[in-house]
Amino acid sequence: MSASNPNQGSDKSLEIMRNFAQSYAKRTGTYFCQDLGVTAVVIEGLAKHKDDLGAPLCPCRHYEDKEAEVKAAYWNCPCVPMQERQECHCMLFLTEDNPFSGEDQSITFEQIRAETNTPKS
Ligand code: SF4
Repeated sequence: MSASNPNQGSDKSLEIMRNFAQSYAKRTGTYFCQDLGVTAVVIEGLAKHKDDLGAPLCPCRHYEDKEAEVKAAYWNCPCVPMQERQECHCMLFLTEDNPFSGEDQSITFEQIRAETNTPKS
């Protein structure tokens, strides 16, 4: 399987970021969104940035200069707001009291690609 649309990362980076997201959720006691489609798109975005920039820059923000942002490191996942206050505005890592949090701390590679194979508008 290879990336078939421009919003997808390579298989290798997707697997790295999928493993990161699962272990980080478990370590921090946070959960994925009830809608795993959200989770899938965010993990795919992190993988794409890892491929393009060499670092998993947060995929849910607009940047004037992505290279500079990677160097600044503030928005490299897990970003500073997540590390300091468990605030993930992408809804990848949700605390139990968040109304959108689900019960999962794992997602398969196939689940992610099933969500991201069709580009979302
Ligand atoms: Fe990662 Fe922070 Fe973006 Fe959440 S908001 S995906 S923790 S960089």
